[in-house]
Amino acid sequence: MRLVMLGLPAAGKGTHGRLLAQTFSIPHISTGSMFRAAMQLNNDLGRRAKWYIDRGELVPDGVAAEIVKERLSQEDCRPGFILDGFPRTVPQAKELDAALASMQMAIDAAINIQISEAEAIRRIANRKVCSQCGSTGDPGAEVCKECNGPLVQRPDDTPEVARHRLEVYMVQTQPVVDYYREQGRLVPVNGLQPIDRVFMQICQRLARMGIIKTPKPCEATIRREVDQ
Ligand SMILES: [Zn+2]
Repeated sequence: MRLVMLGLPAAGKGTHGRLLAQTFSIPHISTGSMFRAAMQLNNDLGRRAKWYIDRGELVPDGVAAEIVKERLSQEDCRPGFILDGFPRTVPQAKELDAALASMQMAIDAAINIQISEAEAIRRIANRKVCSQCGSTGDPGAEVCKECNGPLVQRPDDTPEVARHRLEVYMVQTQPVVDYYREQGRLVPVNGLQPIDRVFMQICQRLARMGIIKTPKPCEATIRREVDQ
């Protein structure tokens, strides 16, 4: 199963990407974690990414695509993967398709978690992020699901910055949604429901498309993770 997670900032891409990865025992690859791993390796690509990140700039399409390609060619990605935070632009989506094709692979579906812009702004104002790894914390959680680091309010999570991020998303990433829709690979889900409902909707759609056999394993994850 090879999936891409799409949606406005704070739509729940990280949460549902992680739940899917856990359910199907495949890696959840967030762009942030991938860039950090590349920088730790301190190879040529990692150093190029670091140059941009240290300056607070977006890693350019070509560099990002090469890092993603390197990551996806690793052994643990053979059974599948969940990509979260990439592709962000149509050129990146095309590079991803080309890179996967060269490895005889393809993206099965792009999950688009839909929330309104007002809801995204509200969630960004209320959300906390991990002070160690930068992942977004689950609503109400105190520690990071990825690394157990303490969750803190990000100083730049103001409504003004949030609105700017939404504008960037609408210009750069909304066309990615259209790109996957035109190819019949888009799976839209309503993100304005409780986490367990959103997750089951994703799994039911994937089962209907024949990407997973049954949504049963997802029910088990929900019982373990969300209900508790
Ligand atoms: Zn963390």
